[in-house]
Amino acid sequence: MPLAGTPTRCLAASRLLRAAAKRCLPFQPSALPPRTAVLPSPCAERCASAAAARGAGVRTRCSTPSTTSPAVSSQQHQDYYTITTPLYYVNAAPHMGSAYPTIAADVAARFQRLLGKRVRFLTGTDEHGEKIATAAAGRGLSPQAHCDDIASQYTDLWGKLDIRFDRFVRTTEPRHAALVVDVLSRCWDKGDIYAADYEGWYCVDCEEFKDEKEMVALPGPDGKPTAQACGCPTHRKPCQHRKEANYFFRLSKYSK
Ligand SMILES: [Zn+2]
Repeated sequence: MPLAGTPTRCLAASRLLRAAAKRCLPFQPSALPPRTAVLPSPCAERCASAAAARGAGVRTRCSTPSTTSPAVSSQQHQDYYTITTPLYYVNAAPHMGSAYPTIAADVAARFQRLLGKRVRFLTGTDEHGEKIATAAAGRGLSPQAHCDDIASQYTDLWGKLDIRFDRFVRTTEPRHAALVVDVLSRCWDKGDIYAADYEGWYCVDCEEFKDEKEMVALPGPDGKPTAQACGCPTHRKPCQHRKEANYFFRLSKYSK
């Protein structure tokens, strides 16, 4: 875990966050969708269906609006069911790997609707990432034009497959940006974000740093494995060694 950054850099981060907030504002908390909270008490039926969905590669959580009061009965809590697919990267058109969890989530959502639950089924596209910028440049399009095109391919396909989602999230939409600014601002105000350098081996296709022990040796020009293991085990491509200034969440503050 990197150490906390200097006060100067933290001030710079604060200015950056406030500037981002200004661009996205004005927004009122009341204009945001109701925040959800995970129910403290387990619900056997919901957890069973969530476990089934997890088995299909779909993430779920049982949730209810935070505006509920103690007067709201536990029966009303159980009326909510929220399910989400991953937000798919838009570096390429949708494929079977996108359709599979979305169909699984749709099946789970339809089943919960039949049980009378108030279902919120979310899906969407993650439109930030280096590989997306690279894909846009490769097509001679601006990143936003590229994202608009691929996102529309997703919604077209979900229409053809009769996927009944309740909300399609795009990470470039102002509503999403406002939510991110809101969450990050609250983290910043609590001292949970700090600046530091991070150095390591990065796979652009995975959009993540790799542990040295998980990397693999790739074949060299002669077809034999190279001496240094610096390849991504998933993509079988060389990882790039990078050192960059970054922002971190102070997770250690919450460890016991
Ligand atoms: Zn990779």
